[in-house]
Amino acid sequence: MHAIKDIIKRIHSLVPKDRRIRIMNVCGSHEHTIAFSGMRSVMPGNLELIPGPGCPVCVCPESDIINAINLSNRDDVILVTYGDMLRVPSKEGSIRSQGGNFKMITSPFEAINTAKSNPGKKIVFFSIGFETTTAPTAAILETGVPDNLFILSSHRLTPTIMEVLVKDSDIGIDGFIAPGHVSAIVGSDAWDVFPEKYGIPAVVAGFEADNLLLGIAHILGQLSGDKVKTGNVYAGVVKPEGNVQAQKIMDKYFEVADVNWRGIGHVPGSGLELRDEYSGRDARKVFELQEVKESKIPGCICGSIILGKAYPSSCKLFKEVCTPKTPKGPCMVSMEGACNIRYKTN
Ligand code: SF4
Repeated sequence: MHAIKDIIKRIHSLVPKDRRIRIMNVCGSHEHTIAFSGMRSVMPGNLELIPGPGCPVCVCPESDIINAINLSNRDDVILVTYGDMLRVPSKEGSIRSQGGNFKMITSPFEAINTAKSNPGKKIVFFSIGFETTTAPTAAILETGVPDNLFILSSHRLTPTIMEVLVKDSDIGIDGFIAPGHVSAIVGSDAWDVFPEKYGIPAVVAGFEADNLLLGIAHILGQLSGDKVKTGNVYAGVVKPEGNVQAQKIMDKYFEVADVNWRGIGHVPGSGLELRDEYSGRDARKVFELQEVKESKIPGCICGSIILGKAYPSSCKLFKEVCTPKTPKGPCMVSMEGACNIRYKTN
């Protein structure tokens, strides 16, 4: 256990004095710890800790939300999904405000129970999130699901979107704090592309403040040295190869697809759809869902915030109009959303 004071001292000694350094996290829980611990206030003035696209409900496309609302309004359907997803606004409202038959679940296994206890209904599991939530969705498929359960997959791939961000020179990322939970599935080796191809360190960190600080010090140490590589300060949980069994079942049921990210747009190869062999489970195919054109929420700059190009405080609606009780954009809904976090720590 490293003393927090010592790590902060080390961070100050390592940060280059002659330029701005921007380190991005891509995990809502990391942003949560950074904000609630007051970490930014003890960082050197030229070191920016920027939140990236780490909030799953924030990046879920509006089209999928509208399709979910429409499905829940069918008499023969019960839509099940995670609590935050019910509240995310779209041009048609949220699932909670506009939907008909919907149920909040906390685990995919509850979707199975809902299907079993409602044999006369079609249960659609609106399954969203990064690799961390894809693995449990694949797990229920592997254990076997009732005939009346269908999946509306809105899963996204973290390494792919991080590569998009690195290539955007307007963002200017000097290093990544790689997400601990996602890394437990994909493995720390999944981030090798950043040092090897882009010369940017990526260090896996856990969720306690001291571990995150250690990750930041690790990144700065690499930037001030002559070798950049993947690091892992969460090695008790994250292995280089990740959870191979979970990767196998994810690969069995899902294939990589070109998809939209809310606020970011179309990103080739950045999502997961059910493979053709499982099209009978795929709500998009079974219910012949169509893509709905994304709209822009007037005044909301969530897209720029997700990309690390703006902070919530730059939004004119922040706090005055948009609050956790009255969210105007997706970043204010979840406790992993940058606006929600900033609202609660401001
Ligand atoms: Fe969007 Fe609300 Fe955040 Fe503004 S404060 S960017 S409206 S979510």
